[in-house]
Amino acid sequence: MKFADVIVPLPIVGQYTYAVPEELEGKVCPGIRAIVPFGKKKYYTAIVTRVHEDAPAEYETKELVEILDGKPVLLKRQYDFWQWIADYYLCTLGDVYKAALPSGMKLESETLVVSNPDYEAEAPLTEKEQLVLDTLGRDTELCITQLEKATGIRNLLPVINRLLERGALSIKEELKRSYKPRTEAFIRLAETVKSEDDLHRLFDALSRAPKQLAALMKYIELSGWVRPGCFLKEVPRKTLLQEANVASTIVSGLVEKHIFELYHQEVGRLARGTADTVPLNPLSEAQQKAYDAIMQAFASKQTCLLHGVTSSGKTEIYIHLIEQAIRAGKQVLYLLPEIALTTQITERLRRVFGNRLGIYHSKFPDAERVEIWQKQLSEHDYDVILGVRSSVFLPFRRLGLVIVDEEHENTYKQQEPAPRYHARNAAMVLASMFGAKTLLGTATPSIETYYNAVQGKYGFVQLTERHRRIQLPEIEVVDIKELTRKKRMTAQFSPLLLQKIREALEQKEQVILFQNRRGFAPMIECRTCGWVPKCRNCDVSLTYHKGLNQLACHYCGYTEQVPKSCPACGGTELMSRGFGTEKVEDSIKELFPEARIARMDLDTTRTRTAYEKIISDFEEGKTDILIGTQMVSKGLDFDRVSVVGILNADSMLNYPDFRSYERAFQLMAQVAGRAGRKSKRGLVVLQTKQPDLPLIHEVVTNDYQRMFGEQIEERNMFRYPPFFRLIYVYLKHRKQEVLDQAADRMASVLRQGLGERVLGPDLPPVSRIQTLFIKKIIVKVEQQASLSKVRTYLRQVQRMMIEDERFRSLLVYYDVDPM
Ligand code: ADP
Ligand code: ZN
Ligand code: ZN
Repeated sequence: MKFADVIVPLPIVGQYTYAVPEELEGKVCPGIRAIVPFGKKKYYTAIVTRVHEDAPAEYETKELVEILDGKPVLLKRQYDFWQWIADYYLCTLGDVYKAALPSGMKLESETLVVSNPDYEAEAPLTEKEQLVLDTLGRDTELCITQLEKATGIRNLLPVINRLLERGALSIKEELKRSYKPRTEAFIRLAETVKSEDDLHRLFDALSRAPKQLAALMKYIELSGWVRPGCFLKEVPRKTLLQEANVASTIVSGLVEKHIFELYHQEVGRLARGTADTVPLNPLSEAQQKAYDAIMQAFASKQTCLLHGVTSSGKTEIYIHLIEQAIRAGKQVLYLLPEIALTTQITERLRRVFGNRLGIYHSKFPDAERVEIWQKQLSEHDYDVILGVRSSVFLPFRRLGLVIVDEEHENTYKQQEPAPRYHARNAAMVLASMFGAKTLLGTATPSIETYYNAVQGKYGFVQLTERHRRIQLPEIEVVDIKELTRKKRMTAQFSPLLLQKIREALEQKEQVILFQNRRGFAPMIECRTCGWVPKCRNCDVSLTYHKGLNQLACHYCGYTEQVPKSCPACGGTELMSRGFGTEKVEDSIKELFPEARIARMDLDTTRTRTAYEKIISDFEEGKTDILIGTQMVSKGLDFDRVSVVGILNADSMLNYPDFRSYERAFQLMAQVAGRAGRKSKRGLVVLQTKQPDLPLIHEVVTNDYQRMFGEQIEERNMFRYPPFFRLIYVYLKHRKQEVLDQAADRMASVLRQGLGERVLGPDLPPVSRIQTLFIKKIIVKVEQQASLSKVRTYLRQVQRMMIEDERFRSLLVYYDVDPM
């Protein structure tokens, strides 16, 4: 009798063993997916990790129901990587599995599916498949359990899986995320046009329809048609109409005559079949020197930091390194923070690498992510993957180089849910498993990375001049404390900033205004008694959204209408306090009614399309003033921005976190980097109440080293990273008293083993989320100590806690290397 150990997509410790039914015995191997029953009448897609003959002693095994793959979808190295993540970040393999695979590859009974209205069967469907499609109908969504009931078929997962692969169904999840791809109409020649002769016949046939003929000729020119079957450029209908200067009815006429075909495609999506690429830009002298230094560093070090000022051409250097790795037969993983992965960068890479480039974005449709995963397993895997955090989980077989751009970005750290991994650090571990190299690139390194570089642990390459020697912007500091006292501020703006905005608008130049929202969310407050509305479920004040006249909780999503009067004192004067981007937008509209304004923050960029539209409008000069949170600082390359306003540096500095100075520097330096044009030096107006702060001076002089020197001293003194490692232990419980007891008990047991390294328990800044009370214990471990011993001890103590009858429903989780 054979048994299979599997990972189920649930946060449970350890793996489960199932019996392998006889008919599947030859087919089960590690790395393939299998459908398993779990709990009452529930089915999950699990991953087989081991096949063996040892019957488990503790429980009676159930049987695997079916297997989904002929070949592994999880490669050995990936599995090793999963184990490292689970171990290091103190979570379960199930957590990792859930984060790693796209939804379409891990169906479970609760998964909601919808039918795809555009699906046309290419091959006959089986009876079961047809029944599922009929049951679903056009507009309904059902979870798999419901479908099983309705069709009377037991265990539909394999059937659903086949339908998904054929594109007949989609997973509902992506619709929930309200993903609406931006599509565009394209024109191509009908398949019946096979030869040059066919084409000439068409020319003759159209001789009496000169406009249609003109459109056809223009198409030939635009697509680069030479002979049948050659690679063609894709021709958008819009472009064709413009270039041929014809009305859309002319092109529709050609479609009706079956000469043209119309098709729709998502813009920015991988253009299949275009092998057309352009040669690389030659590197400048400074860039070439940096490139050589990186290659030399890689000879002896696994990781190298490229510290290059904004617009120094880091991306160009990456492109050359990628090219070099591909030539050596290796794959490259190029990581970017989610919001920095824009059309701008994808187009730049696609021009060079064409269809050897795969793009993996969390806001792409799930089906597309499944496709990329499967392609990575095939013979024709991608040479370059450009992706966000989660692309570290993709299958690779020939990984040779990892590039982590904007390595300082804290969004590389996943906060919720587990695994709370740091993609930069995880990528370095992944690279080492392959013997691959890692390049960390940024204009503003994280303190940890810079420390490793100066200590010689990483190679260290600097690029101090901008491409074409464009100057870094001039930064003017404005003391808004003084101006406020003298009543010379207009809303959030100093006279200097207003004047500079006005001048920029007059000269048709663009302006970026940066307002950090963090820790400074707009709230409502009662003028009479000071009452502030709070969330019912969480211990936080609600954020005020003027547009909707709503109050919303950013932790649990709870919303309510703004009350007409204060529930505490009945007063009717409720006023907003603090200012976010929305408020800045209001003031700017009032002050510059003629300007075209856009706002970029979490609320205006829920979808990828919305985000891209704001950027492309700004790029194309359709917007004059862009107001935003840190999102506007993300590596965007604009050409017409002459003025950048940092409205309030203090909100970043006053944030209670040991990284707040580092982050403030990074943010301000990055935002400032958006200013400046080819011909003209940009200007940054930096408004602050603390103009004499050393950090402000360091921003003005772009003196990263000095900032680093100060910060590293503080980190050492106060026992923070990189000298100490932090692990936050979170405990959650519905009852405050139980939580208090549990936290005290756990902290004291931890102290027995770890002594002074344990701090707390404390209340975290938000001490109640979604009706659960929260406490936090901090463990600080010196760099030299064995972290794995600490982890083992933590797990041991956690087991002991859960075994205690009183703490049965206590939730414990960890944040290792918190950000
Ligand atoms: P960074 O990644 O350091 O911010 P980029 O690589 O985006 O810098 O370069 C900034 C701008 O300069 C881009 O528009 C880029 O196309 C251009 N550029 C940089 N280096 C070169 C080069 N060697 N040849 C042509 N253009 C370059
Ligand atoms: Zn009141
Ligand atoms: Zn809430």
